[in-house]
Amino acid sequence: MLSGEVISEGSGSVEFDADVLVLGGGPAGTWAACTAAERGARVILADKGFCGSSGATAPSGTGVWYIEADAEKREAAMASREVLGGYLQDRLWMHRVLDRTFDSINLLAARGYPFPIDANGHSRRNSLQGPEYMRLMRRQTQEASVLILDHSPALELLVDDTGAVAGATGLRRQRGDNWVVRAKSVIMATGGCAFLSKALGCNLLTGDGYLMAAEAGADLSGMEFSNAYAISASFSSVTKTLFYKWASFTYENGEIIPGAGSQGGRSAIARALMVGPVYAQLDQVEPGMQATLRLAQPNFFLPFDRVGINPFTQRFPITLLLEGTVRGTGGLRITDETCATSVAGLFAAGDAATRELICGGFTGGGSHNAAWAMSSGYWAGAAAADHAKQLGTTTKRQVFRAGGVALRSRTKASFNPNETTKAVQDEVFPFKRNYFRTADQLVPSLDRLNKLWQTINHADAADRDQVLRARECAAMIATARWMYRSALARQESRGMHRREEFPHQDHKQHHYITTGGLDDVWTGTRPVLAHALQDA
Ligand SMILES: Cc1cc2nc3c(=O)[nH]c(=O)nc-3n(C[C@H](O)[C@H](O)[C@H](O)COP(=O)(O)OP(=O)(O)OC[C@H]3O[C@@H](n4cnc5c(N)ncnc54)[C@H](O)[C@@H]3O)c2cc1C
Repeated sequence: MLSGEVISEGSGSVEFDADVLVLGGGPAGTWAACTAAERGARVILADKGFCGSSGATAPSGTGVWYIEADAEKREAAMASREVLGGYLQDRLWMHRVLDRTFDSINLLAARGYPFPIDANGHSRRNSLQGPEYMRLMRRQTQEASVLILDHSPALELLVDDTGAVAGATGLRRQRGDNWVVRAKSVIMATGGCAFLSKALGCNLLTGDGYLMAAEAGADLSGMEFSNAYAISASFSSVTKTLFYKWASFTYENGEIIPGAGSQGGRSAIARALMVGPVYAQLDQVEPGMQATLRLAQPNFFLPFDRVGINPFTQRFPITLLLEGTVRGTGGLRITDETCATSVAGLFAAGDAATRELICGGFTGGGSHNAAWAMSSGYWAGAAAADHAKQLGTTTKRQVFRAGGVALRSRTKASFNPNETTKAVQDEVFPFKRNYFRTADQLVPSLDRLNKLWQTINHADAADRDQVLRARECAAMIATARWMYRSALARQESRGMHRREEFPHQDHKQHHYITTGGLDDVWTGTRPVLAHALQDA
């Protein structure tokens, strides 16, 4: 069991000791915590919200890349996304994730997840209802003796004198104090960054993990694949895009928008939204199927019922909400099959890590993210527990705070996190900057983001009641800068990254783009390994 709470005198903090600290309590974090605990580690999990109901999965239904162990079916599953992903996937990783996901989903069934039974009596295991799934994961996590700190956002990592990660600190929002956890390994599972776009489940996902890890020296990969936009009714935050395959899309005057209903139709919708309102109607759903859709995704229909619109028979205004890296594929770079990052003692899982290894440059949904979250969580949890064991006793280890911006006093200058957040959103939301990318828009945008960074970097430490917002704001600025630097470095169109001046895929750029740095953001390239796919 964990050692008891020790209140450190005068600091207003509670201190804990653990072998493994998991930051984030979505699917990736809970799988990681359970796996580490099952290997005998003393584990603490800290979540910004309430573990089990926060994050992108909890309020949604997610498809899962669950493919039975049949060579042909697996081959087809891997091949089906190669083109979309721009041939950046790695077959070894896809095999591993398919194997791991198959085992994990079957374990969920054994632990009581209520998978539906189809008309032939088969258990359907390729999708999960977020609330039931995450309720079960929370229970599993507690039963594994993991100490869960709810409403306890991490603010910064701790490192030892070799630079290895040695814990983290954060806030206990409901108690009004701070927590400090000294740990031998830390798993970053804080999800992606959706820039507070109001997309369902994304309101706590501000890229905090990227910032904390970068402050400790970690780098990132695939950050150009960060411009996932999803369709939502304009009076709703639900971004369940699947249903729109049965929709007609119209301009204000009722005329059909050409190409909007096709695969890749989102760009037609985005172009139309740049000049006026766009409407949708789910008029291609057979009457007999309407009740099934309602049953499958009740939360999709709630906002319609609230405003009295029948989406099957009436048209309604829509918008595109930015989901950034949540349904993009960029994140912390994984350096080996244990999901280690480039910093000793720090592992990454789920949307906090890059998903290029199985998705290449495109997800947009379609079950890979859910499979990645449970698989990478499992590997990171196992490796973090093993790392802690190898490290042995660390009682004499001196630890230092790795965080910078908004945490340490610098000058008497101040910044307003709400206004600065709005300024970042003005750079990343507009389609003309982030969807239809050009150097003409990206370069000045990056300049403005760099200036925002300088401003907050030289500002005074934020007050206690503002510090979380200030750190989130810093994380979003940092994320946007890595995104746009990487987008400028990829002078082609590949995966979800589209450059208007370079509309084609260029075989000479069949590589990964690494990025990092805080005051000075840099990019570099890495080759796609020999066991990955051959470029077309
Ligand atoms: C509407 C929607 C539908 C989707 N549908 C699918 C689908 O059908 N199939 C699919 O594969 N994927 C889908 N996805 C993507 C999928 O939900 C994510 O890939 C998955 O949730 C990632 O899990 P995670 O644990 O990494 O992150 P999350 O589930 O987002 O969890 C991250 C957790 O980290 C916590 N956190 C954040 N910052 C901090 C901090 N500073 N300190 C402590 N904790 C922190 C958050 O509170 C949260 O609990 C969908 C996403 C959305 C938004």
